[in-house]
Amino acid sequence: MGQMVNIVQNNVMRITALFLLIFIGNFVLSPVVAQDRYVLVIHGGAGTILKSQSTPEQEKRYKESLEQALHAGQLVLQKGGQALDAVEAAVRVLEDNPLFNAGKGAVFTNQGKNELDAAIMDGRSLAAGAIAGVTTIRNPISTARAVMEQSEHVMLTGLGAEQFAKEKGLELVDPSYFHTPERWRSLQRARHRDSLDNLKKSQLPLAKEEAMLIRKEKYGTVGAVALDKHGNLAAATSTGGMTNKKWGRVGDAPLIGAGTYANNLSAAISCTGWGEYFIRLVMAKSICDQMEYGGRSLQDAANEMVLKKLPALGGDGGLIAVDKEGNIAMPFCTEGMYRGYIRQDSLNGPIKKEVALFKN
Ligand code: ASP
Repeated sequence: MGQMVNIVQNNVMRITALFLLIFIGNFVLSPVVAQDRYVLVIHGGAGTILKSQSTPEQEKRYKESLEQALHAGQLVLQKGGQALDAVEAAVRVLEDNPLFNAGKGAVFTNQGKNELDAAIMDGRSLAAGAIAGVTTIRNPISTARAVMEQSEHVMLTGLGAEQFAKEKGLELVDPSYFHTPERWRSLQRARHRDSLDNLKKSQLPLAKEEAMLIRKEKYGTVGAVALDKHGNLAAATSTGGMTNKKWGRVGDAPLIGAGTYANNLSAAISCTGWGEYFIRLVMAKSICDQMEYGGRSLQDAANEMVLKKLPALGGDGGLIAVDKEGNIAMPFCTEGMYRGYIRQDSLNGPIKKEVALFKN
């Protein structure tokens, strides 16, 4: 009888210990603690805007468009949705808007086509998906997400990516859907400036005026980064690349670590600007590494990369970033960058929102 009682007591203790282990393990293994804060930051490209050439009406249109994208992402975050869903929702709105160089309204290649690139990354797991050089996918960011979630790969290009999108039931359109007269005119102007090609090919720093001439016509990209109420980060970037690009050129936007990166341990980052320089600096991942391994703040690391290292090489552009604490950075070394953020720092706290085009 006494033996029976001992066996029962032992088993009860074992089971209790097991439950305790599972309970404690849950806290230790999931550093992500639910919180009531959310942050969404977006950009619509850097470099294309010159204060001297924009009218108040144009500025208003851009600001309203940025607000629409913020609203789409906020709808997700406010109700406790995932950062990943929020960045995808915000970028889709910008892809559908012909004002921005992504999706409809993308710039033209030298051959008169629109070749689109996009990437998305989940800071929880470092899962990532990207596509490059596609011409028939209406919302490249959603296909990038499908690559991440429904394939064993990270990056698909050209016809293969389009075949994948078709198989996954994503929306395909006729390439003419992306055409806009304004971008077509930009291509004609860029072709006339082709004499600058030798300079563009060079990796040597350009004189300021030469770089100005090239970038005025070339850039644009859209992106979003978010911190959700669960403490998770995500980043998304989508672009038509650079006007007059040739030979299947791909920029930084779809390259994980260069134009797009997210890691719950540091930050989520989406870049815009002269892609070749962002690739050479491995921009987004460099900032995350400086934070994770060097203990630097987001603002310090981002400012150093964008305001010092990038122009020192002869490149330019900007980025948006949010870190795991909800700090935001939006440095750029061009005259302007279409950008905005929305945030709420506590459950019933005020919702803060701002959109801007030029330096304050
Ligand atoms: N970074 C993009 C690219 O080089 C262009 C841009 O952001 O404006 O393709």
